[in-house]
Amino acid sequence: MRLATFQLDGQRRIGTVSSDGRSVQPLAASPDEAARGLLPLLQRLDAGQGLPQADGAAVSIDAVRLEAPLPRPLRNLWCVGRNYHAHARELARSVFKDNAARADEWPIVFTKVPECVVGPNDPVRLPGAAASEQIDYEAELALVIGRGGKNIARSAALEHVFGYTIVNDVTARDVQMRHQQWDMGKSFDTFCPMGPWIVTADELDGTKTRVRCWVNGELRQDGPTENMIFDIPSLIETVSRGITLYPGDVIATGTPAGVGMGLVPPRWLAAGDVVRIAIDGLGEIENRFV
Ligand code: MG
Repeated sequence: MRLATFQLDGQRRIGTVSSDGRSVQPLAASPDEAARGLLPLLQRLDAGQGLPQADGAAVSIDAVRLEAPLPRPLRNLWCVGRNYHAHARELARSVFKDNAARADEWPIVFTKVPECVVGPNDPVRLPGAAASEQIDYEAELALVIGRGGKNIARSAALEHVFGYTIVNDVTARDVQMRHQQWDMGKSFDTFCPMGPWIVTADELDGTKTRVRCWVNGELRQDGPTENMIFDIPSLIETVSRGITLYPGDVIATGTPAGVGMGLVPPRWLAAGDVVRIAIDGLGEIENRFV
C-alpha cells in the first residue's frame, strides 16, 4: 500500500495511491488530522484501529499536489551518517579524516529538525552565501516507525517498520564541518525534501533496494541498500537503545557514494539545479534549488 499526503481543491488530504501510481483515493480525516499528514493515521493503526474510510471518489494523481507524507514529523528526524562503504571511502579525506576508525564501531547519528521537511517536488531554498556556500545533496532511503518501542532487539526490529519513503538529506557542508554536531548544517529551512509517499513494508524490502540520484540529469549516486555498513535492524536497535521510538518517527538510513563533496574538485549545488532521487519499488522525488 502507498499512503500519501496531498493538496486537493485547496485542502490538505491523505489517501492511498493506486498500484499503478495513477490515481489517489482520499481517506476520511478531520482538518486537524489532515494538517499533520499521515501521522494521525500511523497512530490510529498502532492503536489497533483500521484504515479510515474512503472519502469521496478516487481522483487522478495529476489532480493533486503531493506533499511530504509527514509534513511536520512528530519530532526531529533521526539520520545516520557515513553508512555506505563506498561513501565512507569518498569521505575519508575530509570530514572523517580524524575519526574514521571510531566511526566503524558505532553508527553516526544526528538529527534534522521537523520544520525543514518539504514536499517531493517543492523548491529547496539556498540559504545565501552568508550562511553557506557549500550546499550538497544526499539521496536516502528513510524508514517510518509503525510500532514504537524501546531497546528494540535487532531480531525484532523490522516488525517496527511501517514503511519507507525517500528523503534528500540536504546539507550545508561548511556548516556541518564547522561544528562538532551536525544538526545545524543539516537543518536549514527546506533542507529535507520527502516523498512521494510511504510504501508499506509488506510491499518493499528496504534492506534490498537501490538508491539513485541525478543532478540536472547526470547520475551521481547509485547504491544498493545491501551495501549499508549498519543495516536497518542495527540502526533501529541503536536508536531505540534507552530512547523510546514512536509511530511516525523517521530514520534516514544514510547516503551512497557520489555526493558533491566526494567529487574532485567538490561540486556544490547552485540556483537552478534540479536533484532527482529514485528508489526502486518506491518512486521518486525531484526538487529544484532556488
Ligand atoms: Mg545523510
